[in-house]
Amino acid sequence: MSVIRKELAHAAMSRSHALIDYNIHNDIHKRHEFKKQTLLADNSLTKDEKNYAINWITKGYDRNKIIENSGTRRICENCNQKCLATLYCEFCVRNYLKAIGHLEMLILII
Ligand SMILES: [Zn+2]
Repeated sequence: MSVIRKELAHAAMSRSHALIDYNIHNDIHKRHEFKKQTLLADNSLTKDEKNYAINWITKGYDRNKIIENSGTRRICENCNQKCLATLYCEFCVRNYLKAIGHLEMLILII
């Protein structure tokens, strides 16, 4: 694995975000796909830097999908529920927080 130039990857992420046309990319799914394709086409980044950047924007996309309760669901291999997030399962996180007694505390904070 090569060294990831994080500042370059973040600059590319900012460019991909700045290039969004909100008339065309009018929902979170279209915006995420546009940003992802823009990053993949960015020749200033190495393959590892593209993976880093796409992973980074996917974290925000996962958050937005859960907040909007929108998007393609997948079956979690751990709990077998239909979850929205790509990088984790929101039900497994919720169950874990319940198990350790932190979910109620988090709800109070939010
Ligand atoms: Zn799960």
